[in-house]
Amino acid sequence: MARKLTAETPLVVASHNKGKIREIRDLLAYYGLSLKSADELDLPEPIEDGDTFEANAKIKALAAATATGLPSLADDSGFAVEALDGDPGIYSARWAGPDKDFALAMRNVEEKLQQKGATSPKDRAAKFVAVLCLAWPDGHCDLFRGEVEGECVWPPRGDKGFGYDPVFQPEGYDITFGEMTSEQKHGWKPGGETALSHRSRAFKLFAEACLAQ
Ligand code: IMP
Repeated sequence: MARKLTAETPLVVASHNKGKIREIRDLLAYYGLSLKSADELDLPEPIEDGDTFEANAKIKALAAATATGLPSLADDSGFAVEALDGDPGIYSARWAGPDKDFALAMRNVEEKLQQKGATSPKDRAAKFVAVLCLAWPDGHCDLFRGEVEGECVWPPRGDKGFGYDPVFQPEGYDITFGEMTSEQKHGWKPGGETALSHRSRAFKLFAEACLAQ
C-alpha cells in the first residue's frame, strides 16, 4: 500500500532539470501541493549510478528526502530505441554531453540507426520511459512506471518540449512530441482517464495511489 501525501506537507521535486521541473509543476498544479525543487533548495545532485530507471529514481528521491527531512519525488526517465538495444535509455541525459546538446544526442541516435540500416518505421520503434519514486525521510519508497511507445523519426520536428521530443512520434499520431503543446503531450488532467506521455502515465498511477482525488 503506497503512503499518502497530504496538501499540508511540502513536497520536494528532486530534480535540477528545468524542463522536467516545469512539467512536474504543470502535472501537479491541480492538487495545490506546496512544491520546492532540489534546484531552488540548492541540494547537491547525487551520482546516478544505478543500472535501471527505478534504481536511479530511488537514488535521487532518497537523497533529497534525507537532506530535507521532507517527502521527495524524483523522476528518472529516458528514450529507449529498440534497434539500439534500449539505448540511450538510462544514459539519455549523458548522450547530450556536458553542454546538454540534444541536437547532438538526436544525431547520434540517428547515425546509429543508419548504421543498422533501420529505415522503415517498424525498424525504428522507440519508447519513452518514466519512473517516479516518492521517498520519505525514513527511507520508505513507492515507485510508479509509465511508458509510451512510438517511432524515432528523422529529421527532428518541432520546438516545443525538451530533450528527444522532436524525434519521437507516438503510436497513432502524425506529429512528434516536439510539435505538441504540453496539454497534447500529456493528454491527462488530474482525475481524468487517459494519459499519453510516459510521465503523465506514471503521474496518473502516482496520483491515484498517493494523492487525494
Ligand atoms: P534524467 O534527468 O536522468 O531522468 O534524464 C532524463 C533524460 O531523458 C532527459 O534529459 C531527456 O534527455 C530524456 N527525456 C526524458 N523524458 C523526456 C521527455 O518527455 N521528452 C524528451 N526527452 C526526455
